Amino acid sequence: MKIFVVNAGSSSLKYQLIDMDNEEVLAKGLCERIGVTGCISHKAADGRKYEAETPMPTHSEAFEAVVFAMTKSEAKVIDSFDEISAIGHRIVQGGAIFKGSCLVNDKVLSDISDLGAMAPLHNPAHVLAIKACIKTFGEKIPQVVVFDTSFHQTMPPKAYMYALPYEYYEKYQVRKYGAHGTSHHFVSDRVAVLENKDKKDIKIITCHLGNGCSITAIKDGVCVDTSMGFTPLDGFMMGTRSGTIDPSALTYIAEKDNLSAADINTICNKKSGMLGISGVSNDNRDIEKAGKEGNERALLATSMQRYQILKFVGQYIAAMNGVDAIAFTGGIGENDPGLRQYVCENLGFLNVKIDGELNKLRGQEVKISTADSGVDVFVIPTNEELAIARDTLDIVSKL
Ligand code: ADP
Repeated sequence: MKIFVVNAGSSSLKYQLIDMDNEEVLAKGLCERIGVTGCISHKAADGRKYEAETPMPTHSEAFEAVVFAMTKSEAKVIDSFDEISAIGHRIVQGGAIFKGSCLVNDKVLSDISDLGAMAPLHNPAHVLAIKACIKTFGEKIPQVVVFDTSFHQTMPPKAYMYALPYEYYEKYQVRKYGAHGTSHHFVSDRVAVLENKDKKDIKIITCHLGNGCSITAIKDGVCVDTSMGFTPLDGFMMGTRSGTIDPSALTYIAEKDNLSAADINTICNKKSGMLGISGVSNDNRDIEKAGKEGNERALLATSMQRYQILKFVGQYIAAMNGVDAIAFTGGIGENDPGLRQYVCENLGFLNVKIDGELNKLRGQEVKISTADSGVDVFVIPTNEELAIARDTLDIVSKL
């Protein structure tokens, strides 16, 4: 059974075709500049490539380009889209409405659209993409939506409520929703498999550290707390996002520089974090290089990032009254031995010990803690597309 996984933004569309018989990726690709000009870059598993510039005024033309790439181009992998059993879509914001993945219908589409106020850059684009999919592939291929937020819906109110006047929760549903749920779900499931234990019996902390970063506490098999909040700005510093800061600092800056709420939003989301502190880049590789060359602000950014991550891990150890396993994932989590070493060394009070040689490995699934470590520590490359495909398969196989 083949599942087509779609991750659509307003001007881009990432996709993968996965053969669920062996969970192998048959092809993957990216359409960019939708609504502006349009280009596709497509790659088959055997290395064949197809790249083209083609007009994509809307997502519909982008999907038509994908159909061509998959079925007719020099990198074709199937004869027809009839071979595809279902389509799985990544959706950023499911609010409190979506507690799990589900089939697309008119009500689901309008709910995702209504939640757009909380994810203006993402949800409207997802709706456009789903509608374009229906237009391109017809109604006969079932479509499933998988939410970044649904894994966090098990959080108790004490974790997801903000101590604001209660009316803002009632009127505007302002609360913590979290993000990266598909990744935290995937990685925590892998931890349980690697531990050879039922997930319900282990306390897990998953650290998804990429351009966006979040840390999640998983107890009794479910998420009990997570660092991202009402939006993916909350938590700790990221590539260009500030993470949590005293809101008074923002109102103070806004008054001083006569800035609007939208300006503040841009500053916190796009100009802060590793970029804002280092002044070098939002990318950890550039910051590491600058740090090695003696750039003080790059070194400060690195030390802040590590300290903030450590504190979130510490919070969640307290929240769960212990931890059995910690997992690192995402571009940084999978590739930054120095960060992992820093976090683990500072959990020495729990007798956390890692193997220096194993910790040097990058981008592969490995247990980096020693046999006598008080907590098991893993590096687990995330695979959100596979997680979406699995959920999609699960839902359509019950039809
Ligand atoms: P996104 O959130 O966009 O999916 P990624 O998970 O790809 O982001 O993570 C991007 C971050 O991972 C960047 O800061 C980048 O520097 C870091 N990263 C990726 N590969 C490496 C590597 N080989 N070594 C160090 N850092 C890396």
